[in-house]
Amino acid sequence: MNLILLGPPGAGKGTQAKRLESAHGVVQLSTGDMLRAAVASGSALGQQAKKVMEAGQLMPDDIIIRMIEARIGEPDAKRGFVLDGFPRTEAQAVALDEMLGRHGRSLLAVIELGVDEAALIERISGRFTCAKCGAGYHDKFQRPQREGVCDKCGGTEFVRRKDDNAETLRARLEAYRAQTAPIIPYYRNRGLLQRVDGMAAPDDVTRQIEAILASA
Ligand code: AMP
Repeated sequence: MNLILLGPPGAGKGTQAKRLESAHGVVQLSTGDMLRAAVASGSALGQQAKKVMEAGQLMPDDIIIRMIEARIGEPDAKRGFVLDGFPRTEAQAVALDEMLGRHGRSLLAVIELGVDEAALIERISGRFTCAKCGAGYHDKFQRPQREGVCDKCGGTEFVRRKDDNAETLRARLEAYRAQTAPIIPYYRNRGLLQRVDGMAAPDDVTRQIEAILASA
């Protein structure tokens, strides 16, 4: 089962991708997470990614395409994957088709999480994750049950993304509108696109996605 989750920053792609991982044994492939790992490693790629991400812009297609192709070829991706944050441009969508063809694989569905842009700023500016296990939280919508302690792993350190601020979000949304939204018709024309209401509560969004998968 190979899926794409599509939607602007803050739409809930990461949350839903993690749930699909545990429910279906597929692997979440987040290009944003891969780039953040590169930034943390201090590599040349990481140094470039840091600047681009803090400006809310997109990394060059060729770099991202190489990164995702290497990842799709790894053993844990054989059972299936959920792409979260890729493709983000038409060139990436075309390259994905080519590489899936070469690997004899195909997409089951492209699920678009539809959201009201006005809500994104509040969603994004309040979010943080456990530094140890990556579980996601929110200042207003999902605080840990015990203040300062991760519900999932008991970790006590939390991190916030540098690009989760109002100014960078504006640039990220602009990049989404100009470069990513145009790939929606590409998938609609091939009968792969399914839209869910990303404004619903996370459990409800999960139910909508599961219903799509059950009939795909
Ligand atoms: P995300 O975690 O998906 O919100 O990605 C964070 C940032 O990483 C984005 O704002 C981009 O700067 C960069 N990035 C992630 N995925 C891609 C991609 N597929 N193409 C280009 N840049 C990307």
